[in-house]
Amino acid sequence: MPSNNSYTGRHRPPSKPSRGRQFVVPVALLSSTVAGGLVVRQAGAQELSPEAAAMKNVSNSVAGLGLAADPDAVAAAAANRAGARSSRDMARDASAIIVGATTSAEAAAADAQEAADRAAAAEKARAKAKAEADRKAKEAARARAIARAHRWVNPLSGYTLTSGFGWRWGKMHPAQDLAVATGTPVHALSSGTVVFSGWSTEGYGYMVKIRYWDGTVSWMAHNSRLVVSVGEEVEPGQLVSYSGSTGNSTGPHVHLEIHPDDGAAVSPRPWLADRGVYL
Ligand SMILES: [Zn+2]
Repeated sequence: MPSNNSYTGRHRPPSKPSRGRQFVVPVALLSSTVAGGLVVRQAGAQELSPEAAAMKNVSNSVAGLGLAADPDAVAAAAANRAGARSSRDMARDASAIIVGATTSAEAAAADAQEAADRAAAAEKARAKAKAEADRKAKEAARARAIARAHRWVNPLSGYTLTSGFGWRWGKMHPAQDLAVATGTPVHALSSGTVVFSGWSTEGYGYMVKIRYWDGTVSWMAHNSRLVVSVGEEVEPGQLVSYSGSTGNSTGPHVHLEIHPDDGAAVSPRPWLADRGVYL
């Protein structure tokens, strides 16, 4: 700014002492031709050529706009702004990367958890299926064991049916007689417990009584030999005695009685036929 040694009003003095000569240096925006026309004279002299005055005004206006900065500074500022933009971009990019990575990590964790859950569920289902299969297998095995234990079988083989169930010679015969050679193996009809094995004082000779799993009691009389004892558990078809003609008997045979629920005797043939055994 050109100095002026005369002040009026409340204007403050210049911050720097006045120098003998001052030059108005046009800013970079001025063309060399115009700049060459600038002539600065003694301090205080405000006589500028019209062109120089005009350019000075331009210069001042430009300076007032703050555009007369050092090109290097401008470039540096621009670089800084670019750098700032780059930094913002990088920060934004980094943020995006972090967000992306976090999202990926969370997704991976979720996937892993989901996979673990699926595996656990599959294992649980497999264990449950195995337990169910084991339970069914045990149940089936138990059912088969029960079926085996509850089956009914023929007491002996090689016999001839003689006296049947009913009245004979004016007397009730509550049994089926099976004529067979002495010493023929006699078997339990099903699973049960031996409730009598010994000599009968009522004419049955050596007799075996078995109470079966359904409560029925069988009598097998006139044996020559007994091979089971009272309280013994027997299985279907198990040997219990050998046939004979002991007691009140006219010849070797097995006298077979069937007492449902240990009650009155019933006809053995239809009763056994109902259980798949045909004498
Ligand atoms: Zn008889």
